[in-house]
Amino acid sequence: MALMVERKDDNGLAEAREHMRRHDLRGRDITDPDVLRVMAQIPREEFVPPEYRPQAYKDGPLPIGGGQTISQPYIVALMTQLLRVRPGDEVLEVGTGSGYQTAILACLAQRVSTIERSPELSVAARAVLAKLGIENVEFRIGDGSRGWPEARAFSRIMITAAVPDVPPPLTAQLAGTGIMIAPVGQGAAQELIVAEKHQGKLIETSICGCRFVKLIGEYGFSE
Ligand code: SAM
Repeated sequence: MALMVERKDDNGLAEAREHMRRHDLRGRDITDPDVLRVMAQIPREEFVPPEYRPQAYKDGPLPIGGGQTISQPYIVALMTQLLRVRPGDEVLEVGTGSGYQTAILACLAQRVSTIERSPELSVAARAVLAKLGIENVEFRIGDGSRGWPEARAFSRIMITAAVPDVPPPLTAQLAGTGIMIAPVGQGAAQELIVAEKHQGKLIETSICGCRFVKLIGEYGFSE
């Protein structure tokens, strides 16, 4: 996919992006060449408020408004790598946020369907992806804990906010042999889990501890 934003005067952000790829991603345990390639292409600075542009490649979350955050680049890369996205995949993302993770997934998959509770964030994310020329994404506003509004099966599902347990409607929409990744836990810290569907059941593997904002909704947390 040819991205449409190329900046000549980017105040060293292209160098910072390459440093992120080499030091914060490959220098840790991100080894999937496709994930590394895409993370080196997507301009994270486009997804953060203007005052945070200079910090776009610091390896941490940043505020995006409404008490929400764009996730840490390393966590975005790790979750993408663990999801093992392939070119034919239909991906469901719950929690569009800034759209940064959406863009990464869209560069690897056939199609991404992304749902966000905040209308403002969804509209802003759609605008950034349009600016970048990323067209294989379908946006919805709503409670993603209830699944995608229409009956569909997804080969990959990524939940980008903390859930108390994997929401049953999302388990139902995961295709047979599909993979889901989610931060699961009741408290301020959660466990990142990868769940693979076998004969209708989820086999869960715990990866590491993590900290995400809460998914607010019917099968998430109350407000
Ligand atoms: N990965 C995103 C990025 O790179 O910008 C960050 C996602 S942010 C950590 C979690 C997002 O989930 C927030 O934008 C929040 O509004 C959204 N969210 C919370 N509850 C939700 C729900 N029930 N359905 C859909 N989105 C929800």
